[in-house]
Amino acid sequence: MSNNALYAGPVFSMARDQFNGAADFLEIPLDERTRLLYPKRAIAVSVPIHRDDGSTEVFQGFRVQHHLTSGPGKGGTRFAPNLDIGEVAALAIWMSWKCALADLPFGGAKGGVNCDPRQLSAREIEAISRRYMQEMIPFVGPKTDVMAPDIGTDERVMGWFVDTYSMHQGYTTSEVVTGKPVNLGGTQGRREATGRGVCILISEAMKAVGLEASGSTVIVQGFGNVGSVTAEILHQEMGAKVIGISDHSVAYYCPDGLPIPDLVRHAREHGALAGWSNELVVDPVDLLTRPCDVLAPCAVERVIDDQLAARIKCRILAEGANGPTTPAADTVLDQRRDEVFVIPDILCNSGGVIVSYFEWVQGLQRLFWSEEEVNESLSRQLRKAFQKVRARAQRDGVSHRVAATAIGVEQVRASKRQRGLFP
Ligand code: NAD
Repeated sequence: MSNNALYAGPVFSMARDQFNGAADFLEIPLDERTRLLYPKRAIAVSVPIHRDDGSTEVFQGFRVQHHLTSGPGKGGTRFAPNLDIGEVAALAIWMSWKCALADLPFGGAKGGVNCDPRQLSAREIEAISRRYMQEMIPFVGPKTDVMAPDIGTDERVMGWFVDTYSMHQGYTTSEVVTGKPVNLGGTQGRREATGRGVCILISEAMKAVGLEASGSTVIVQGFGNVGSVTAEILHQEMGAKVIGISDHSVAYYCPDGLPIPDLVRHAREHGALAGWSNELVVDPVDLLTRPCDVLAPCAVERVIDDQLAARIKCRILAEGANGPTTPAADTVLDQRRDEVFVIPDILCNSGGVIVSYFEWVQGLQRLFWSEEEVNESLSRQLRKAFQKVRARAQRDGVSHRVAATAIGVEQVRASKRQRGLFP
């Protein structure tokens, strides 16, 4: 397969190696792989803003559309320091397999701005959001590419995206993004959807390995949208004991279980978990190796390498984050298949994009669902995807990740074949 220096970097290498693993398994000829793996389109823009001190600063923004074969692009927008186009491309590729696995009529996309939201005021974040969307207007839209939140962005940013895009169109076009406030045409249940999905899949995995949710022990890494909702639902609705949590600022461990609502309140008020306790602080990497029933990495990529994969002591590894496990770690986990049940990221965190799809459909139809309808449909769709992955893995004797990726790749490959090559 030809090499493309534009995307070179550790996260892109991960996505490429995972794809090649699935492509080897599916025996896809080499000449077809380049077309399947490399993005259709990558956009890089300058995002200039006035800082609060009166100076001007230019940030770099990206959007990568991996493929548009099955429908509009779909994927989050990340505001993070050190973001580069290789990472964005990898995330877009994962979105493609994820959407295909969940039977959604989207291609994968992803975008973001290289900036540190923690160092910016609300006004500066608004300026970045508006200028980024302004630069992207020629390339996105309800029928071409639909953005959503990801690390460092939230409902508020989606609201600014809707406003900027709509001012340009001359009418309200809220269906240009998902994950927006309910008042602006967002859907019930979207804010919680990714974490709720993680919990639905954890409960399916528990049935598969013979564990009870009530009284089980859980460690969650990351306490943003995905991590905090996962911890809350496990604690409040499923009766699990969350014994460890961490974010970028601190890690806490308490074998008797942590008071999650109290920690959610603290993180909301202080912007981080740090400062809540001194006694329960532990080393953040060490936390991941403590014995527990479920370990849920819900923060960033590449936190579990081969060394750590050999040391984790969980029964279920629920990948709420995108790309938390490196391919080298996968090799180790493959040998530990009977000990550690892996719910791979493209399945585990797909609740977010599934409910984004519901939001998009509701927006196009101007017909809105209740939270019960959203959650029931989410649960149905996730259980179906879980069964597909499990059945494929068992039938072909491969890992859940290879099975999930292969199902996604097969679907995209079939669509490309059916449409043929233009012109
Ligand atoms: P977020 O910005 O709301 O939260 C990120 C959290 O990770 C924060 O608590 C941050 O402090 C923490 N963190 C950062 N670096 C860390 C580290 N080294 N160790 C421990 N914690 C660390 O982001 P999010 O939306 O919750 O996304 C988290 C992950 O889930 C990302 O991989 C994202 O791509 C993925 N994801 C998000 C969604 C969604 O709907 N938001 C959907 C699918 C996948």
